[in-house]
Amino acid sequence: MIERNKADILGCRVDRVTLEEGIAHIKSLVGRGRPAQVITLNAEIIYQAQNNSDLKAIINQADLVTPDGIGIVWGGRRLGYEFKERVTGIDLLSRLCREAPVEGWKIYLLGSAPGVAEKAGQCLVNDFPGLQICGSHHGYFNNDDIPAIISEIRQAAPHILFVSLGAPKQEEWISKYKEQLGVPVSVGVGGSLDVVAGLKQRAPRWVIRLNLEWLYRLMSEPSRIRRQMALPKFAVLIIKSKYNKGLSPRK
Ligand code: UDP
Repeated sequence: MIERNKADILGCRVDRVTLEEGIAHIKSLVGRGRPAQVITLNAEIIYQAQNNSDLKAIINQADLVTPDGIGIVWGGRRLGYEFKERVTGIDLLSRLCREAPVEGWKIYLLGSAPGVAEKAGQCLVNDFPGLQICGSHHGYFNNDDIPAIISEIRQAAPHILFVSLGAPKQEEWISKYKEQLGVPVSVGVGGSLDVVAGLKQRAPRWVIRLNLEWLYRLMSEPSRIRRQMALPKFAVLIIKSKYNKGLSPRK
């Protein structure tokens, strides 16, 4: 766990890392070999964790928690923590897949609709020659299927497992099964496999630079409105927390 550069946002620990620092930390976690969990956290999940102590514990016990959403960067700043940049699931996924052939890492993709993880794997191999995708499985399984999925992943023996079941389901799943899986690093990556497989598009760069990726996602998937209703509530909690604690700015 990174001890320096941590932020406490409404009781949830977030590591104030850049993408490169996150990658360096994950490299050390792969080298360590013990099952580690990486969370790419957003404000909606922090908001859910306010009424879900198990979820809060999962976040606080993870080995790396990156600031995925602009809500976290905004909320952190209000509380006096400077975040250098967002570190999203898809950024980690593509940087780690670039690193993997050089490091000799094998990758397993779990989640999304049937066929999507497999297609995403083919796209990643095209983008990163030499990449070893040692297996994939869709994310629409029953509890009864879980032992077979765990056994398949154990046999494939990946160094990194990307789990795309949506947040916080993927965080809960990784936390529950990581010891049985025995994979050195498991990362929850939300809808990233859909993007890699070409099913969904990420916002254009200029939209991301303007910190409006959340609006782009809302416009392309209006059904996200219910989830995104958490954002103004998160903002209110941040403002209350700031004034309750009377925090002085930190660096
Ligand atoms: N998903 C899944 N199994 C489930 C529920 C969701 O594999 O039981 C997948 C879904 O197909 C999608 C991803 O999880 O690929 C969630 O994407 P979303 O964009 O909602 O994730 P977020 O990044 O917002 O958490």
